[in-house]
Amino acid sequence: MSASPFSIRDFFKSFTLWELFKGMKLTARYAFRRKVTIQYPEEKTPLSPRFRGLHALRRYESGQERCIACKLCEAACPAMAITIEAGVRADGSRGTTRYDIDLTKCIFCGFCEESCPVDSIVETPVFEYHGEKRGDLYFTKDMLLTVGDRYESGIAAAKTADAKYR
Ligand code: SF4
Ligand code: SF4
Repeated sequence: MSASPFSIRDFFKSFTLWELFKGMKLTARYAFRRKVTIQYPEEKTPLSPRFRGLHALRRYESGQERCIACKLCEAACPAMAITIEAGVRADGSRGTTRYDIDLTKCIFCGFCEESCPVDSIVETPVFEYHGEKRGDLYFTKDMLLTVGDRYESGIAAAKTADAKYR
């Protein structure tokens, strides 16, 4: 014969509202502790220097584009999200005539950044962006350079902070 799922002890406990007081005791224990919930977007949690957000193309201080169109990032990208076309710059050096990233394909793995020999393509801490139609998340070279120009100081600081662990 199987045991009854409802014991006499439980039966009497139900009259004393035991479970209710147990729950209220737990609530009281956490009521005055430091809160871990933050009021996003007014408050933000700290981000790692390795955070992989919106992509950017960087320039040197002289203004010259860092990218040398070696295409290592394109080859490393598992999502085949990067499209590069190479050409010759006015000064005779190799550069890109096209550098596009389709962020609807991107899985933010960071392989492009890892593979780049000149720290040109990077992922910034920017994650608050959106697109309202598919084409909005297709980032062209000009768009990526604009992101890089805008966030260069933060990108450089993150690279410096992370350098000792690499
Ligand atoms: S983060 Fe990964 S998936 Fe996205 S573009 Fe770079 S290599 Fe491709
Ligand atoms: S971003 Fe870096 S890895 Fe990609 S083509 Fe340019 S130099 Fe090469």
